[in-house]
Amino acid sequence: MVNYKDLGLVNTREMFKRAIAGGYAIPAFNFNTMEQMQAIVMAAVETKSPVIMQVSKGARNYANAQILRYMAEGAVAYAKELGCEHPEIVLHLDHGDSFELCKDCIDMGFSSVMIDGSSLPYEENIALAKKVVDYAHQFDVTVEAELGVLAGVEDEVSAAESHYTKPEEVIDFSTRTGCDSLAISIGTSHGAHKFTPEQCTLVNGVLVPPPLAFDILHEIEKKLPGFPIVLHGSSSVPMEEVETINKYGGHLEAAIGIPEEQLREASKSAVCKINIDSDSRLAMTAAVRKHLAEHPGDFDPRQYLKPARENMKKMYIHKIVNVLGSDGKLAEC
Ligand SMILES: [Zn+2]
Repeated sequence: MVNYKDLGLVNTREMFKRAIAGGYAIPAFNFNTMEQMQAIVMAAVETKSPVIMQVSKGARNYANAQILRYMAEGAVAYAKELGCEHPEIVLHLDHGDSFELCKDCIDMGFSSVMIDGSSLPYEENIALAKKVVDYAHQFDVTVEAELGVLAGVEDEVSAAESHYTKPEEVIDFSTRTGCDSLAISIGTSHGAHKFTPEQCTLVNGVLVPPPLAFDILHEIEKKLPGFPIVLHGSSSVPMEEVETINKYGGHLEAAIGIPEEQLREASKSAVCKINIDSDSRLAMTAAVRKHLAEHPGDFDPRQYLKPARENMKKMYIHKIVNVLGSDGKLAEC
């Protein structure tokens, strides 16, 4: 049993309070590899931003649970080495699907977990979330729960159809579960293919997806004033990365994400955590494809992973500064 505080990590409570009061959102970036971890830490340190590093069940299966946990511990040490004396790094479980998985993460040093019972009937979702909250709060670990269903595919999480969160349920749900934050469904979606072209409108040659349901978000905010709200599936799927991938041998069709202006608007509300995963995957793949196409003789992974890391770092900094507004928001620099 390791407590996250001994690893130099923090939970989400204070950073969410400040984010809601300050009208910005904390970035939650998924990671599976050392290069992603390094890029996240470099971006957070350079911009003086708090950051949530999140691990999905699929990431644990890919990289190994112990390795990711030690990488998060390494992330804190690395941030300090880069000159940030008081980094605010959360190690968060993304889409925990059972009490056992959440407990395992809490016991090995995670500072925050998500229990996703959103596919369960309402009462079962509450019972499961409450069980996780009761365990997590003994160790001051914060818990994110979810109401409503997002469409799309993310690792082992997938749903064909989305179901918007019902504002009339949020008070009952948050009170009875005791959760610290609530992931809601208002039109974001998992993966790099969030919308079909038929769902979009063509504006100046660009496919623009339907807007997020801000009316539902505002209704939820009214019912739960000051309560931390989380948006999943919030990659923007930058066209230039998709074009680079396709130019250098890739084949990504109709990849469409959430416009950044909408995420910027959401950040100013009670939305205080925005999950971004696909954009990092696209940034990495675009840089690797370009490098290998331009340098066909290269075979040392460092030769193509270095530009991949640089490209991800650039993307993370852009999100922090231009979309979420969490730059310069560390409590102590
Ligand atoms: Zn998600």
